[in-house]
Amino acid sequence: MNTENAKPQQRFLPPPPGAEYPLMGSAVGGGSYNSHLVAGVLFIGLAAIGAIDWWLVAWIDGCLAIGLLLDRRTMNRKIALRAMPGQMLLYSQVALRAAVHMFPYYAFAFVLYLGMAPVVLPLNFAISSFVMLYGFYMLLRVYWLVHYLWVLNFRWEHAGRTFQTHQANLKTRRSAIQHVLWAFFLGNVGLVVRCSSQVITIAGFEYLRQSLNLDLTQHPTLNVHVMSIFWGTVVVWLATFWFMLQPTFLIYYRVHRTFHSCRPLYDSVHSIHHRGVLPTQLDSGTISPLEFALTEYNLPAGMLVPNWYWTLGQIILAFAGHLPSHDTNTWMKTGHHHLLHHRLFNVNFGLIAREDKRYGSFYCEPPQAASAPEPSGEAAPPARRRHAVAALAGEDD
Ligand SMILES: [Zn+2]
Ligand SMILES: [Zn+2]
Repeated sequence: MNTENAKPQQRFLPPPPGAEYPLMGSAVGGGSYNSHLVAGVLFIGLAAIGAIDWWLVAWIDGCLAIGLLLDRRTMNRKIALRAMPGQMLLYSQVALRAAVHMFPYYAFAFVLYLGMAPVVLPLNFAISSFVMLYGFYMLLRVYWLVHYLWVLNFRWEHAGRTFQTHQANLKTRRSAIQHVLWAFFLGNVGLVVRCSSQVITIAGFEYLRQSLNLDLTQHPTLNVHVMSIFWGTVVVWLATFWFMLQPTFLIYYRVHRTFHSCRPLYDSVHSIHHRGVLPTQLDSGTISPLEFALTEYNLPAGMLVPNWYWTLGQIILAFAGHLPSHDTNTWMKTGHHHLLHHRLFNVNFGLIAREDKRYGSFYCEPPQAASAPEPSGEAAPPARRRHAVAALAGEDD
């Protein structure tokens, strides 16, 4: 798709076979909460101007505070106020580049929205609210929280495949419970952005449609062809969906890889997600709100349906998409691609393997290694990794 294709990156060569925790990239950083704090302050500001409710801010900032408390051991390393301006500058550069890339796709999406809105908007019933979406997501997350706490409390020794790997953040029962609780609460902060992505996009489209007077039903000649235009738009949308999906994969890959190759961005934004070296399902939410803001707005094809049902489906898909990858060693091997990214850090940046293969960062475990039983936790990783793993495992190290 561009010239990056011509020069595969040698530094992303796969680790030597058998290396459980090879020394690759920046591994586990301080897990900075800087970007979460920025988001917390932004949410307070939004409430102050009346854009969102105060109860939501109380919930978000409360979750952030609980997350910080659950992670108090090394908090002094994680908040660096002096570093914030530089980090924000770097972040806005990445955001700007992504926005420039996405603009044509959003323009196209807006044109399709104009054709669909007169028919679909009236079907938008009561479900059209952020609270419904966020509440639905929360139900799923509460289910997984209860599931994991139950497994950890009562089945830790005989948990089967799920927690067979007692390492890193799952090293001891206590550290695993702490990690799951931490992931649940911290995840609630960033997920606000995920759930508002379509709400905000459609609200923006609708504002433009009304302020530019582009309502087809008000047009003197087109108003009798509303249904034909709607079906024509649906056909174009379906025909171009796959084409519109491509920039999503590419931008996600580029943004994710930038977060890994730029140390300040990694430390302040992305490293928090990598505290789950052996992630659980709930780690699908431990992503900085800023990172969510970049990666969740990359699907204009999905935003096209001017109806919140799409977002409900999208949320289920996003959760299901993380199901195999953020669960350790389950029977679902399809998500191994992303699981390997969590274990090895500098491979497999893409949502799917294609971009990684194209740009030289693909890694796949040799068949024997993939099917071999995981070490019991007594294996000795290289010194630096041992330090990082110990830092994650809890005080009992
Ligand atoms: Zn990553
Ligand atoms: Zn992940």
